[in-house]
Amino acid sequence: MKKSLLLATLPILALGLFAANEKKLSETEMVEASMPKIEAPKKKHEILCFSKPYGFRHGSIEIGETMLKVMGEKTGLFNVTFSEDLANFEPENIKKFDAICFNNNTHIQKGLKDEAQRASLINYVKNGGGIFAIHSATDGGWPEYTEMIGGNFNGHPWGAGGTWDIANEDPGHPIVKDVHGGKGFKLKDELYLYKDFDRSKQRVLMSLDMNSEANGKRKGSRKDNDYALAWVKEYGKGRVFVSAFGHNNEVFYNPKILKMWVEGFRYVLGETEVETASMKKPDFNQPKK
Ligand SMILES: [Zn+2]
Repeated sequence: MKKSLLLATLPILALGLFAANEKKLSETEMVEASMPKIEAPKKKHEILCFSKPYGFRHGSIEIGETMLKVMGEKTGLFNVTFSEDLANFEPENIKKFDAICFNNNTHIQKGLKDEAQRASLINYVKNGGGIFAIHSATDGGWPEYTEMIGGNFNGHPWGAGGTWDIANEDPGHPIVKDVHGGKGFKLKDELYLYKDFDRSKQRVLMSLDMNSEANGKRKGSRKDNDYALAWVKEYGKGRVFVSAFGHNNEVFYNPKILKMWVEGFRYVLGETEVETASMKKPDFNQPKK
């Protein structure tokens, strides 16, 4: 082939490669393809998605918003309002929402400083509001917020680049029974170690499997070796679902996580009744002697 002909062919080759790449699904398409189907909800709820970080900003905030939009549309469970306006927490405004999704809103205590707005949020949940907390929604808070959420970030010994063994602690529970057939699974994500966490105050659904060699090499600092990653809790008349998962973008289109999250939303929105009583840490999740 003459050099000039080769040079003329190169752009065509590059175009061909570009076209092949384009066939790869976009992240939005991945979310759409992975969203589980559910039975028709009793009503279409209104939720607020609050994503403003006042500390570390996660790159997964946008895919989190996409996930909520797709979930609301595909399941018919909710309409979602995206807003970073703290006025949403005032009594007259917060009552418009059936639940609030805290989407990676690191260090909320540095933004939501107004005592009346703080009290309004806590009272909203105590009076029956729902909270769905993703990843760094558990990083920071003031004491009542942490009590409501059920734990506070205390580092992430299990980093975003690692693949970790997740234990399904409660395989009969409606929120996680259909996640990987009720069995544990592997997940690449940044997983939190919690302080101000007390299992007796919530029902843990998923945790780090401390029998796993990969997980066990990273030392957590809890004397009780209790490394919960997802739980439900009642707070007054309110309903709270917490997911430590949600650092990496891929988590937001992982069918296992989406199955758990959609069921978590159904609980938070009052579509389903689920067991929230605390359970003892299962034996399989004890570290090896
Ligand atoms: Zn993170």
